[in-house]
Amino acid sequence: MIRGFPGEFSVYALSCRHNTDLLLGQIEEFRPEAVAVLDPVKAKYLAKRLSRSKSRARVYPGAEGLARIACARWVDTVVGALAGVESLAAILSAIRGKKEIALANKELIVGFGEIIMAEARKSGVRILPLDSELSAIFQCMQGKDAGEIERVILTASGGPFYKLSSNKLKNITVSDALRHPVWKMGKKITVDSATLMNKGLEVIETSRFFGIPQEKIDVLIHPGSAVHSIVRFVDGTSLAQIAYPDMRIPIQFALSFPHRLKTRYRVLELSNWGKLEFIRPDFKKFPCLAYARSALKEGGCMPAVLNAGDEEAVEAFLSGMIGFTDIPKVIKKVMDNYLRTTHDARRTTMLKRLLQADRWAREEARRVIETGFKSRL
Ligand code: MG
Repeated sequence: MIRGFPGEFSVYALSCRHNTDLLLGQIEEFRPEAVAVLDPVKAKYLAKRLSRSKSRARVYPGAEGLARIACARWVDTVVGALAGVESLAAILSAIRGKKEIALANKELIVGFGEIIMAEARKSGVRILPLDSELSAIFQCMQGKDAGEIERVILTASGGPFYKLSSNKLKNITVSDALRHPVWKMGKKITVDSATLMNKGLEVIETSRFFGIPQEKIDVLIHPGSAVHSIVRFVDGTSLAQIAYPDMRIPIQFALSFPHRLKTRYRVLELSNWGKLEFIRPDFKKFPCLAYARSALKEGGCMPAVLNAGDEEAVEAFLSGMIGFTDIPKVIKKVMDNYLRTTHDARRTTMLKRLLQADRWAREEARRVIETGFKSRL
C-alpha cells in the first residue's frame, strides 16, 4: 500500500518474526532507519547481512526491540500486524508514546483488549482496526453515537466448509483447510476461518473495540465477501460497507484516515458481482462460534484462555496431531477445565493474571492434546 503512495508515507521501522529474507527486500525498497526481529538468532543473522550492505538500518532483537521501535520519537503511526501475543509490550509502549495505532492483531484484542483500550483512552490515543469487518463497522459508525446502534452484523465468508455435513467435516485434511475460497492469509487465520473461530474472535474484537455488548452482535455467512459488515441503527436503518475483498483497502483506509486516497486497486461493481447471499451459521456444526460467545459473556481471563487454547489446537491440527473436528473439542475442554480449577482470579483483567491465564491455557491445551486427542494413526 505504501509502495503506491511514496509521497504520502515514509517507513521509519519494519519488523518481522523470523522471515528475514522477506524483510531484507523490504529494507532495500523502503530504507527504514530501524528494524526489529523477534527471533534473536535471526536478528543476529540479519545484522551481519546488513553490515555488509549499504543499509543504515539498525537491528533490534526480541520483544524489547519491537517495543523500542514502536515508541521511537519520529514515529507517528504504528501498524500492529504481528500475530500472537509477543507484540503486546510493543503495542502498549506505542500507546504510552502517544502513537496512533492501526491494529490487525486480533489475538491481542481478544486476550488483552480491555487493557489495551483502557491504556489508549488514558493516553488519548486512537486505535484504528485493520481487520476488514472491524474496519467496515468503524466506517459505518462515523459520525454516529454508540448508543444509536441497535445491532452489528458481522459477515463471514464461511470458509471452505460451511456447506459440508458434520460427518464430512471429520475427514478434513490440513491442505483442505488451508484452501480458503476468498482471502489469501496466514495458516493460523485460514484454519480459524474454516472452523469459524475467526468470526468468534471477531465477535470479541468488535465488543472490545466499540464497547458493544455480545447480545447486539450477530454473525451471518456471506459467501464471496462483498459486504464486509453491517451496522443497524435504532431507527431501523442499516449501513453496510461494500468493497472488493482485498486487505489493502481497509489498510489504506486506516493509514489515510480521516481522509480517503484515490484507489489503485480493483473496484467492486455490484452489477457484475452476482448474488449477495446471507445465511445463518450452524452453531452445532461450528461450535467455536458459540465458545467465543460464551468466553465473552464469562469475561475476565476467559477470552485469553479461549484464544490460547485455539492457537495450540490449530498448531496441533497443522502438525497432524489432531483432526479438524478435534479443534473445538480441545478448546471446550481447556475452557471447562479453567472454570473448574480457578476461582475468583479469573474475573480480573490485570495484565499479570491475563498473562498467567494465557500460559496456563497453552499448557493445558498441550496436556489435553497429549492425553486424549492424539490421532490414532
Ligand atoms: Mg476479518
